[in-house]
Amino acid sequence: MNEEATSEATRKMQFLYALRSKGVTDARVLGAMEAVDRGPFIRGLFAERAYEDMPLPIACGQTISQPSVVGLMTQALEVTPRDKVLEIGTGSGYQAAILSKLARRVYTIDRHRRLVHEAREIFADLDLVNITAITADGSFGLEDQAPFDRIIVTAAAEDPPGPLLAQLKEGGIMVLPVGQSDAVQHLIRVRKTPDGLEYDELRSVRFVPLLEGLGKDA
Ligand code: SAH
Repeated sequence: MNEEATSEATRKMQFLYALRSKGVTDARVLGAMEAVDRGPFIRGLFAERAYEDMPLPIACGQTISQPSVVGLMTQALEVTPRDKVLEIGTGSGYQAAILSKLARRVYTIDRHRRLVHEAREIFADLDLVNITAITADGSFGLEDQAPFDRIIVTAAAEDPPGPLLAQLKEGGIMVLPVGQSDAVQHLIRVRKTPDGLEYDELRSVRFVPLLEGLGKDA
């Protein structure tokens, strides 16, 4: 192997090692994260730090989540190959790309048109044909494609938005951060059972807030 290929392989091994050491142990999730290069989702100044386990700034004042948090949320979502998944908060598109390797179909919504356009370009470049990216206020979900087997929200709301709970299939799972934007937020998992909603709390996290309406660029 030449030097460049060696450092690429080493970087990948370190990336996967960091994920495992932070509790991402599901083989399918690790496989998906190995298959999707985080590099193309980060443009500009921070591109060279794509393989560090760090959140990084992206366009529109938003953030691409830390890989280990992406891994833990994906793992908690228990995605199966038959699932139709809804993501609120496309951001860079990285989380949607990981989900696209695990699910049948992924719908992802962001309130910033620019982020949705940029993410679409990357999905096309990477040949990820089972993702639909939409500009909208995701708090209302996506009525025409409901119900969803899995829903993931990657921006923090004070409570789980009602329309999203309504659009979750019975037997479905939703993972989302709840809490105020500048305080400690909790990552929670909601299961919709025949007897109602079951909640469990996974860990504390820090996400940008779920905001109303479309972003200024939209
Ligand atoms: N999942 C992303 C990171 C998300 S950052 C990734 O993998 O890179 C959170 C995103 O949520 C931001 O892009 C922000 O614009 C978006 N967001 C915030 N409120 C929203 C809303 N009501 N509807 C849709 N998107 C929203």
